[in-house]
Amino acid sequence: MTTDLSKPTVLIVDDDFINKEILAHGLQNDYRILQASSGIEALEIAEAEVPDTVLLDIVMPDMDGYEVCRKLKTSRRTQKVPVIFSTSKCSDEDEVLGLTMGASDYITKPFNMALVRARVRNQVLLKQKTDLLEQLASIDGLTEVPNRRYFDEVFEQEWRRAMRSEYPIAVAMVDIDCFKQFNDNYGHTAGDDCLTAVAKALSKASTRAGDFVARYGGEEFVFVWPNCEKSQAEAIAEKAREAIANLKIPHLYSSAADIVTISVGVASLVPEQNQSRKELIDDADERLYLAKQSGRNMVFAG
Ligand code: GH3
Ligand code: MG
Ligand code: MG
Repeated sequence: MTTDLSKPTVLIVDDDFINKEILAHGLQNDYRILQASSGIEALEIAEAEVPDTVLLDIVMPDMDGYEVCRKLKTSRRTQKVPVIFSTSKCSDEDEVLGLTMGASDYITKPFNMALVRARVRNQVLLKQKTDLLEQLASIDGLTEVPNRRYFDEVFEQEWRRAMRSEYPIAVAMVDIDCFKQFNDNYGHTAGDDCLTAVAKALSKASTRAGDFVARYGGEEFVFVWPNCEKSQAEAIAEKAREAIANLKIPHLYSSAADIVTISVGVASLVPEQNQSRKELIDDADERLYLAKQSGRNMVFAG
């Protein structure tokens, strides 16, 4: 088995050792190969590794390929992974059944490796294109940080995870101070450059896995910090505020300073069953408003 992480990953699932070996041997030059001997094992590996394609035997004891495919397609993590069924019995009905269950293609035993390689290659390329499109759809075109769409989706996931795990989740609303004045006096292009520089500095401010900053809209950004108490969140927000001040972008028309600054509202809570995640955003928004009221260029955590 190769461990080259730069290659696309193919998971081979077959209860027959020889079949697995033939496929692995024929694909290992181009792909990082993972192998499973049962449906259960396949699901575990797929969930952990999210391969770029699964080659899935249909007839296996315990859990057959159809059931594995159905489970892969219902899991959020693996639903977009292409499944190629490998089978010796392939009547038209079998093929129709497999395709309606979400399989992308078929290969038949005994394997013709040239055909197997061509079919795998097609699915892997398609998967990479889909991944890229999805990634582009989540990135803000101007600042290149995650966009509002990404925020909505991932914040919801993190909120539910925090509820299940009973840990606090923190958010911070960030708003550039007197940005209308900046645009009015330095021009919209300089405004765009400023937004981009601010976004870049903000995305460097928090580095733990799961942390992210997104463009919330206009000149507003939002941080999400899973498993983060308010005091920690306040400290990171303060670091972010300093990072923006340290950019030293001149802003002679700001009421807060002679450089570009941000105001930040921080909130953190352990989500309860009946709570909406909007409450957390509203909390942070309220504190942002207080920071603005109190003179801007500050962090409010309440
Ligand atoms: P405050 O300190 O109270 O936040 O004042 P402000 O001037 O920053 O707030 P206001 O909401 O009045 O103005 C926000 C400005 O942000 C107005 C809008 O033109 C500008 N803006 C929003 N999106 C963009 C963008 O993509 N590019 C540029 N250049 N400006 C933008
Ligand atoms: Mg604003
Ligand atoms: Mg503003």
